[in-house]
Amino acid sequence: MLGLYVHVPFCSSICNYCNFNRGLFDGALKDRYVAALETEIRGAGRGEPVDTIFFGGGTPSLLDPSEVARVLAACRGSFAVRPTAEITLETNPETSNVQKMEGFRAAGVNRISFGVQSFREPELRRLGRLHSADRARQAFREARSAGFDNISLDLMMWLPEQSRDDWDESVRAAIDVGPDHLSLYLLELYPNAPLKEDMARAGWSQAPDEDAADMYLRALAALDAAGYGQYEISNVCRPGRESRHNVKYWTDGEWLGFGCGAHSTRDGRRWKNVSATGEYVARVMADESLADDVRVLTNEERLEDALFTGLRLTSGLDIEEIGRRYGVDVWARYGAALQPFVAAGVVRRDGPRLVLTREGMLVANEVMQVFV
Ligand code: SF4
Repeated sequence: MLGLYVHVPFCSSICNYCNFNRGLFDGALKDRYVAALETEIRGAGRGEPVDTIFFGGGTPSLLDPSEVARVLAACRGSFAVRPTAEITLETNPETSNVQKMEGFRAAGVNRISFGVQSFREPELRRLGRLHSADRARQAFREARSAGFDNISLDLMMWLPEQSRDDWDESVRAAIDVGPDHLSLYLLELYPNAPLKEDMARAGWSQAPDEDAADMYLRALAALDAAGYGQYEISNVCRPGRESRHNVKYWTDGEWLGFGCGAHSTRDGRRWKNVSATGEYVARVMADESLADDVRVLTNEERLEDALFTGLRLTSGLDIEEIGRRYGVDVWARYGAALQPFVAAGVVRRDGPRLVLTREGMLVANEVMQVFV
């Protein structure tokens, strides 16, 4: 079933490592942006069933609950949003309070994803984050007391000056908070990230690669012991709490993205909305095309995507099913190149499924090169 993604490009401040499509909060622009979102969504649907909606950013929790309610009303007016739809809102701890959480809940949001990143103050300061670890804990409690029973936390590893023990401390703190879902991301430093300059100036460094690998494995072991199940390279959850929306990205699903820079994939086509917020609003208001980049995917590209993304899941790839869908014998085509990875124990064949072992997840990019 179709998923909807709604991009909210505003942030209270810009983190020094961030490479997302975002900008500083501007109240007047935000008002026009929400109106543009409503217009775009109302013009997009033809009553198709939808079972996930994801507000991502940026910082979607900078919107008022009434604005989230308006956007959701537009979604419901344009699509057949299932009563059981998963509706997620990404939230930064410094932007949330009990009233807002109750408002989001009343608007129809039923899943919160908190960008916590670390439970250690020095790390939060180095990243330029505005919240403290205590604020993150309090925001989590506020969300629970507002009735959210499906809450995710994001943590980032391999931060500047972060030791393995420091990372363990954040993972333990996250487990203590008791989320239903956790995403563990590796810090990626894009070429001109201000954090790179901060690191050079302050003499901060990242731990060696082998420590990063160890951090990943130790976190997963701690999360296993705490009752979380890994379902994707970077994601673990309590039973039944997988991100239904994100699973669409990894299982050859279809989604429509709304807002500036949002991507869509549907009917074998992929497109991206214009990135700049002001330009997006202007085009919506002028009833001009929003898509900056439309591509019709070839069968080969769709096959490649399905193989790439599916291998991220711990359930692995059903190569027979993918073969049927794309008319290819996957093992005949890639088996010889995959064999060394099977022999090394990083890829396992499990009936018709091809599965990365946990150690294999550390070298996932190398394995995926086989499909390029
Ligand atoms: S809050 Fe998130 S989207 Fe905004 S600047 Fe920081 S990392 Fe980027």
